[in-house]
Amino acid sequence: MAIRTLVWGENVHDRESKIVQNIYPDGMHTAIADGLNEDDGLSASTAVLQDVEHGLTEQRLAETDVLIWWGHAAHGDVSDDIVDRVQQRVWEGMGLIVLHSAHFSKIFRRLMGTPCSLCWREAGERERLWVINPAHPIVQGIGPYFELPNAEMYGEPFAVPEPMETVLVSWFEGGEVFRSGLTYQRGAGKIFYFRPGHETYPIYHNEDVKRVLKNAVHWARSAAPAWTSVDDAPNRPVDQALEPLEEKGPRLHKDGEAGLR
Ligand code: ZN
Repeated sequence: MAIRTLVWGENVHDRESKIVQNIYPDGMHTAIADGLNEDDGLSASTAVLQDVEHGLTEQRLAETDVLIWWGHAAHGDVSDDIVDRVQQRVWEGMGLIVLHSAHFSKIFRRLMGTPCSLCWREAGERERLWVINPAHPIVQGIGPYFELPNAEMYGEPFAVPEPMETVLVSWFEGGEVFRSGLTYQRGAGKIFYFRPGHETYPIYHNEDVKRVLKNAVHWARSAAPAWTSVDDAPNRPVDQALEPLEEKGPRLHKDGEAGLR
């Protein structure tokens, strides 16, 4: 079965900026989903901030293998309850791909536990993205590097935890560098942060960017059933121990009691 991929867009600059509309007439989320649907192994649909429950109902998320997150101007408008729901699904094994300015999204900051801050400049400068591990599945079909002729600069220090793997590092015309492709795991869920994507340049029409996104969805998809009990903390009484066990010492808790949180 094709990997069920949901492209979530905040859909703000897409509607309010003529520049962005010219590049992405149906919104960035639609362009990203169209790129993914070129791959027969993927089945991508879209949801936006303005949908009921931001388009991220329990059922929709349960039927999503990999979620792609675009946000920039309206991070604060995303409901904390929905962020809880997305986090739970990541812990259960749903893949998450976080794009560009979504480094400041509630869900990414929550999952990273760090400020996720960086420095930036909007000057349309050239970006060269170097592949750090040519054997990584996310960069298959990409050469030693690829270039974007016009990009917004993101520079280090990028205040994120040390990743599982740094897959891409960017160099910018103005001299800065940035870790632009990073992998994480939280609970059973695999996470990929991918830097390219400023709205005023046709980044998601670029063939190398589209290739990385397709690869990343395949990488982030978990083949295992959802680990729905991942946040449970059951008490296991003495009489259920696998080996005969004699109770020693005083206790605070009763058998079978719910854990404290
Ligand atoms: Zn940007």
